[in-house]
Amino acid sequence: MYRNLLFSSFDAFREVPRNCSLCLDRAPVLHFTLHEIRPEDREPIKGFCCAPCAAHLIAKLEQGESWDWTEQEATLAGDGIDTSNLRHRLESLRAALTR
Ligand SMILES: [Zn+2]
Repeated sequence: MYRNLLFSSFDAFREVPRNCSLCLDRAPVLHFTLHEIRPEDREPIKGFCCAPCAAHLIAKLEQGESWDWTEQEATLAGDGIDTSNLRHRLESLRAALTR
């Protein structure tokens, strides 16, 4: 599985909800699309989000990738395959997404 997370700006004078689609509290600052690509290929989640919820979505992306990569690493290590490249990429991703 892999995930797409896209943020974009929007025209504040067009049809934009008054509140964030996720927390329903703060004003939205970005439009987002979150798509988790699985065998069942679910529809993407779209909406407008505030800055704290945008950070939450990025953290969710990092956590999902960490989980998947950790599972893959365990499988490869169990087969005796060197996982140092995968570990390096995972640590780089965590650093990039959690700054
Ligand atoms: Zn929010």
